[in-house]
Amino acid sequence: MVEIADKMAKVVSLCKRRGFVYPSAEIYGGTGSVWDFGPLGVELKQNLKKLWWRDMVQRRSDIVGLDTAIITRPEVLRASGHEKGFVDPLVECKVCHERFRADHYHLVESHFAECHKGKEIKDNITPARAFNLMFKTFMGPVDSDDNIAYLRPETAQGIFLNFKNVLESSRQKIPFGIAQIGKSFRNEITPGNFIFRTREFEQAELEYFVRPSDAEHYYKQWIEARFRWYCMLGIKKENLRLRPHTTEELAHYAIAATDVEYKFPFGWSELEGIANRQDYDLQTHENHSGRDLKYFDEELGKKFWPYVIEPAGGVDRMVLAFIVDAYEEMEDNEVVLRFDPRLAPIKVAVFPLVKKDKLPDVAKQLYDELKKDFMVAYDEAGSVGRRYRRQDEIGTPWCITVDFDSLKDNCVTIRDRDSRKQERIKIAKVKEYLESRLEKL
Ligand code: ATP
Repeated sequence: MVEIADKMAKVVSLCKRRGFVYPSAEIYGGTGSVWDFGPLGVELKQNLKKLWWRDMVQRRSDIVGLDTAIITRPEVLRASGHEKGFVDPLVECKVCHERFRADHYHLVESHFAECHKGKEIKDNITPARAFNLMFKTFMGPVDSDDNIAYLRPETAQGIFLNFKNVLESSRQKIPFGIAQIGKSFRNEITPGNFIFRTREFEQAELEYFVRPSDAEHYYKQWIEARFRWYCMLGIKKENLRLRPHTTEELAHYAIAATDVEYKFPFGWSELEGIANRQDYDLQTHENHSGRDLKYFDEELGKKFWPYVIEPAGGVDRMVLAFIVDAYEEMEDNEVVLRFDPRLAPIKVAVFPLVKKDKLPDVAKQLYDELKKDFMVAYDEAGSVGRRYRRQDEIGTPWCITVDFDSLKDNCVTIRDRDSRKQERIKIAKVKEYLESRLEKL
């Protein structure tokens, strides 16, 4: 068992070394809490997004997708309440001007203990002031107050703005949903814990529009569905829990919210939130834009603003949770990432047993063939044992070895990452074998 405190450091190091996640602009010293996804990280993230999309959009007749703009005009975020309300209380250390969230007081305490030992905290900290978390920019060639725009702090608003467009073009009837995956930006005061809290991140959000009287029912249904989704993709049930928000915690627009929390090495933390946003958003955008955003319910014969149930998850947090959960250190210190095969960045690796006697030719041919359908690695360096370990460490579910017998019997050995069992199968059957083991994305 890996020590809990160690685990995060080991995961971060593995992510860098094997190409899952790098610090952004690292050669210039990094950009504070901004990260880049490497060759394996981008595969894992895309697999996650594809599975989310498959289950939230493709396989449902009541949900459609959307991809809306990041640059947002201030009127939108004024109406949504973000301009005034999307704030954290901020305090500043008078000694070194470092800033902290006043509601994360333990950080202030550890800052003083580490950097300004002996100084009285209350004499050396400013009163809390509201700090807006949105990134501001300017549209067009003039930097003036008339040209302000924001980078969206959530993907949800783009969905509400297009509610009528989607309704008219897709002819959905409530209950129905609009889903979106995309980047959001928050100038977090205390980002950290690797890719858990960052300033630029991706969200996967669904706004599900329902009759007000059905809201409670769908709220509960979505909480269960989202919890099940994480289990279905292999997160251990004991590492997941649901935590309803207290009344004080609720965002201004919500009457109820529940977080799906994951037991990260740094403690239980939010992976995804499911909120009952009532009719707050459609109502406020109608009031501010002057455009009718009500829904006409033919069955009930009346017009109203639907209530909205919102499951909103963070893709980067999901990536971290899936890596942490898959991480296992064996007795010989060997690391295995036990990803669900559908999530694994590389599905299969192909090795020639040795670098001679035509074995690389046969292996390369198989590699080229499989590459048409899967992400495949080819490796001919070092012993087969070492090659297995390299693949285990990045979570590749299967490794195929081409050996001398392969030249005669046209068979190869497939080794399973988790059972470590080896099977001999015909080269011509490899693709079928993988397809049967893998629900293809
Ligand atoms: P937190 O309480 O952790 O700040 P939140 O409740 O403000 O999160 P929401 O506004 O509900 O988050 O956003 C939905 C999801 O987006 C969160 O569950 C989380 O997974 C993700 N998310 C929010 N902020 C960040 C961030 N700074 N970095 C990475 N992911 C984030």
